Amino acid sequence: MRDRPARTTDKRAERIAEFIAPLRVEPGSRVRLAEDFDPAYRAGVKNKKAGEELLRAGVAQLAEYQRRLAADATSGVLLCLQALDAGGKDGTIRHVMSGVNPQGVRVAGFKVPSTEELSHDYLWRYACRLPRRGEIGIFNRSHYEEVLVVRVHPEHLTRQGLPDGATGKKVWQRRYRQINDWERYLTENGFHVVKVFLNLSKEEQRVRFLKRIDVPERNWKFSAADVRERGFWDSYQDAFDEVLSATSTPWAPWYVVPADRKWFARICAAAVLTHTLIGIDPRYPEVDDKSRAALAGARKRLEREAPR
Ligand code: AMP
Ligand code: MG
Repeated sequence: MRDRPARTTDKRAERIAEFIAPLRVEPGSRVRLAEDFDPAYRAGVKNKKAGEELLRAGVAQLAEYQRRLAADATSGVLLCLQALDAGGKDGTIRHVMSGVNPQGVRVAGFKVPSTEELSHDYLWRYACRLPRRGEIGIFNRSHYEEVLVVRVHPEHLTRQGLPDGATGKKVWQRRYRQINDWERYLTENGFHVVKVFLNLSKEEQRVRFLKRIDVPERNWKFSAADVRERGFWDSYQDAFDEVLSATSTPWAPWYVVPADRKWFARICAAAVLTHTLIGIDPRYPEVDDKSRAALAGARKRLEREAPR
């Protein structure tokens, strides 16, 4: 028997768990974002510079876990990223995944659904883009749009062509249940779901929008529709309160990540993902006697082929 692969020390795992504990939405709890989560929280990390080392360590650790996840090829991970506009989803993905092998990651973004997508049930397009076993999947926006933007703008629901009886006042409660069931199904089949809400303050959104207007290289990121959407800020906060309360489950918890400081949000997202992978604890497959004999045979053959 060979040694097991180097494991994250329990100390380190514990520190990560402690670090993200205040961000976790306890299943069954009732969330009020405005009171419960501060977008400017930074867990005592002084500044960006102090945070850099933390992020570097987190990214390196993720890379190692991803290699094991891929080698093991039993489990998959799905990270759902939700945020309001300018919340920092793109930058978070870029930084957190900067150290991992692109072959092991599958990123999927979701926009206004196409005609084809609308002709299916509402979870269909998300199911189509799930990670394989061994992969980390990231949803840049996710099936949660179906209870967020679709709720804030009910005309999206009208376009979904639902039968009578599938709409009405109870539709959101029903969707929470369906989403929880779907995530449970995925988890029970080896796909671990973890959900991050990048919690931005309204003021910081204003500042980021202004930057998108003022810095030419960022103009492409700005859309007038984003400012219109900002007008629905309170409706979105209410919708998030409900979603976070109803869909943080033991099998697929929500983490509310403070997003007013981009550098801190990235550390948190990396920590949440690492914590999930530590929980899975993927291993390089053990080589049994038969395979070891085959390896030895192949080695002999290759040695015989060495040039004289
Ligand atoms: P962005 O991510 O900024 O490129 O914008 C994508 C847009 O698509 C956002 O305004 C989302 O609210 C919108 N969107 C995403 N999913 C849905 C959905 N299921 N129904 C309607 N709009 C959606
Ligand atoms: Mg946008």
